[in-house]
Amino acid sequence: MLRLSSILLLAAGSIMAAWIFAPRPTGAPYADAQETQVAQRAEFAQDRNLPKALNVSPAAFDADRAMKYLKEVCDIGPRMSGSEGMKKQQALMQKHFEALGGKVEYQRFKANQKSVKQPIEMANMIVSYWPERTRRVIFCCHYDTRPLADQEEDPRKWREPFVSANDGGSGVAFLMEMAHHIKDLNINVGVDFVFFDGEEYILEPGTDKYFFGSEYFAAAYKNGRQKHKYLGAILLDMIAGKGARFPRDPNSVLLAGPLVDSVWKVAAEFKCNSFVHRDGTIVVDDDHVPLNRGGIPAIDIIDFSYKHWHKLSDTPDNCAPEPMAEVAKVLTVWVQRVK
Ligand SMILES: [Zn+2]
Repeated sequence: MLRLSSILLLAAGSIMAAWIFAPRPTGAPYADAQETQVAQRAEFAQDRNLPKALNVSPAAFDADRAMKYLKEVCDIGPRMSGSEGMKKQQALMQKHFEALGGKVEYQRFKANQKSVKQPIEMANMIVSYWPERTRRVIFCCHYDTRPLADQEEDPRKWREPFVSANDGGSGVAFLMEMAHHIKDLNINVGVDFVFFDGEEYILEPGTDKYFFGSEYFAAAYKNGRQKHKYLGAILLDMIAGKGARFPRDPNSVLLAGPLVDSVWKVAAEFKCNSFVHRDGTIVVDDDHVPLNRGGIPAIDIIDFSYKHWHKLSDTPDNCAPEPMAEVAKVLTVWVQRVK
C-alpha cells in the first residue's frame, strides 16, 4: 500500500493530494468529495438489504493453508509490474483459480510511469464466480510488489530484493484460500476477485505515480457498457501482519460509509477483535479511492500498525494466520447477506 498521511503530501505541495488525503480539508474540492459521498452512501444503502440472517455461517477458511500460499508466492521473489516474478505469479494464480472453478481474465494495459521512458505492460487479473449475475461485489488487492524497500533507513538497502509478504502477498494468499470456499457459500450476487497491477511501481518516490491498475479498472467500468453493476468493493491490504489491527479507514468512511458500517457490524457480531471500532488516525490513499471515483463504493481493510511496511523484513515470518482468519469470517458472512 501507499503512503501515510495528508501532512507529508501537503508538505510536498500537492493540491490534488490535499483533498484526497486530508480528512477534513476545506474548499471546493472537498465539496466534490462530499457530493460523491452522499451519492454513494445512498446507492449502497439502496442496494443492500442485509437481513439478520442469523443462520449465515462463516466459511471454513483454512488460515494455515493461506499461510502456505503466502510462502509459495514469496518464494517466487519480488513480483514487480512487468517482471518475470509477476509472470510467474500470474501463472501460479491462474492455475490455482481455474482448478478451483474460477473464470480467469486479464485486463491488459500499458502504463506510462514518470521516471520510466518506455511504457510498462501491466495486467489486472479478474477471477469471476457466477459470471452471469449482473449484481456483483468485488474482493480485491494489489498483486505487484514495490521495487524499492524505501522505508529502510540505509538507502543502500533500498534496491535489495524484498518479497513484500504482507504488502502485496497477503491479499493474494487470502483470496487463493478463499477460492476453496466461495462457491459453497449461499451468495445471492456475483463475486469477482480483482488483483490490481501497478499499485506501487515506484522507482522515484515523491515523483512517480501510484494506482495504475485500479485507475484503469475504474475507468473501464465507468466508461464501459457492461451489463453488470458493482454494489461494492472490499480492498484487502496488509491483512496478515502479526497482531494486525483494522481501524476504520477515514477515506473509506468518507467515500463509502454504509459499506464500512455493514462490514464492521459483522465483525462486532462475530467478535473479530482485530477490527477496531473507531476511525484510524491515518487517512489511507489506496486502490479504493480510484474505485470510488469510478462509481464503485469501495473500502479498505488495512493494518497500518505493521512495522515492516516497505522494509526488507516484510517476510512471511512476520505474518500470521489469525488476522486472515478473522477477515475471512467477517467477509464470508457479509457476502452472504448482500442481496
Ligand atoms: Zn506498499
